[in-house]
Amino acid sequence: MASYDLVIIGTGPGGYVCAVRAAQLGMKVAVVEKNPALGGTCLNIGCMPSKALLHASEMFEEAAHSFAKMGVSVPAPKLDLPAMMNFKQQGIDGNVKGVEFLMKKNKIDVLKGTGKIIGAGKVEITGAGKTETVETKNIVIATGSDIARLKGVEIDEKRIVSSTGALSLEKVPEKLLIIGAGVIGLELGSVWRRLGAEVMVVEFLDRILPGMDGEVAKQFQRMLEKQGFVFKLGTKVTSVDTSGKVLLAKVEPAAGGAAETIEADVVLVCIGRVPYTEGLGLKEAGVAVDNRGRVEIDSHFSTNVKGIYAIGDVVAGPMLAHKAEDEGVACAEIIAGQAGHVNYDVIPGVVYTTPEVSAVGKTEEELKQAGTGYTVGKFPFTANGRSKVNQTTEGFVKILADAKTDRVLGVHIVGREAGEMIHEACVLMEFGGSAEDLARTCHAHPTRSEAIKEAALAVGKRAIHM
Ligand code: FAD
Ligand code: NAD
Repeated sequence: MASYDLVIIGTGPGGYVCAVRAAQLGMKVAVVEKNPALGGTCLNIGCMPSKALLHASEMFEEAAHSFAKMGVSVPAPKLDLPAMMNFKQQGIDGNVKGVEFLMKKNKIDVLKGTGKIIGAGKVEITGAGKTETVETKNIVIATGSDIARLKGVEIDEKRIVSSTGALSLEKVPEKLLIIGAGVIGLELGSVWRRLGAEVMVVEFLDRILPGMDGEVAKQFQRMLEKQGFVFKLGTKVTSVDTSGKVLLAKVEPAAGGAAETIEADVVLVCIGRVPYTEGLGLKEAGVAVDNRGRVEIDSHFSTNVKGIYAIGDVVAGPMLAHKAEDEGVACAEIIAGQAGHVNYDVIPGVVYTTPEVSAVGKTEEELKQAGTGYTVGKFPFTANGRSKVNQTTEGFVKILADAKTDRVLGVHIVGREAGEMIHEACVLMEFGGSAEDLARTCHAHPTRSEAIKEAALAVGKRAIHM
């Protein structure tokens, strides 16, 4: 029987990164993966394919609407959807190959099949008609998450789709109805709207992007509405009738009331994700899960069973690839006897739409609720030179700093490239920096990042360009 220091079940960003770090630390490592391709949700049906389609569809829209005003005269662009899907697939394949290369480079064994824990120290792998068992000193569960389903709305991945189906539609729907105004709804809604679909989003709550700063979400909603998104907030879908050529969705106010029917060609269900632990043998192994099915861990990623750890989407916390990666690194270091650590106060979140939305740290609502005194510094891109010359002035930067100490507690950006810009705020916050520190840091001119410096100056009511 093969024997390892560490066996990781799942090769998403949590699992494969954990494997690489453990191998760097001298462990003999194997990963178990049931999917034919490595890389998990992120590489195959999540971050990567969605970003490829967001990029391609943005270029399509730019070519149609922005080139002419810059003096670039081209004929109206034509959509070749199979070619766009091919572009997406090439991106996926390139990244999957990259993970395969990393496994080889770090001498990590890849065991193809479904992993089941048959007791501390033993993992059974079933795949391609055979079963093998391996021995290991440690196990990391990195099995990720699956789509959350909605009662009365059966997903067939053709007309009623999850994010997976929405990444591979064969034609642009005339009318796309999206259930859930979270990250997936707004990103994939953007893709299909840019390609020509009429997009309506039905959201249970009275706002979009729950968890994001309220002011940011409100302004961002307006921007999306200007693009053509139609939002029905405080509303729920109770059923979808699939019997006819056109789908008929029954919606009613979340608080109850008169129902109405909405027609659609495709319905996208994106109301969150749930931890995935099917077939893992957790019950038999005695591994505890919480009331939402997430594997319970302590601050060292250890489950209640010695030698079994868990990371990523399958445990509590934001379901984000970079959170899973950082947990993978910290978990490997802890298993190796080092002091691995993840700072959950500084995990950025990005919505990759146009404009993008990015955030790190506390929202205004969270600070109010905690009774923390804070000052706000805001700066609009309309007053940023680079944004003006590029004519991409939508959005603003908002910095929240402690009223007493000036320590930056939260940064929120709506605007082009917001996802790249947020990281200077992350570094600052990791070092416990103040708005004053940010304001006195020289920023290259002309860049959009100067808006961050100006927002930091605005915390002290001394922005220069406003
Ligand atoms: P996963 O990536 O889900 O990987 C788990 C792996 O475990 C899978 O490969 C699965 O096949 C395997 N597995 C499960 N059970 C077993 C078993 N018993 N035996 C063997 N293998 C098993 N996050 C971001 O940060 N940025 C984004 O832009 C972003 N975009 C997204 C877009 C979409 C459409 C979706 C759906 C998600 C997106 N996410 C994004 C979220 C991100 O994909 C997840 O947070 C991330 O993949 C979680 O990583 P993980 O390693 O925990 O699990
Ligand atoms: P989400 O949690 O972001 O949003 C789900 C939305 O659906 C919420 O607004 C919620 O209020 C709403 N909702 C729930 N039940 C509903 C109902 N019955 N009717 C109408 N609305 C309802 O979830 P998601 O968009 O499905 O994304 C899943 C996960 O994937 C998230 O955790 C997200 O972090 C991750 N993801 C991240 C990125 C990124 O980082 N850019 C991109 C895509 C996905």
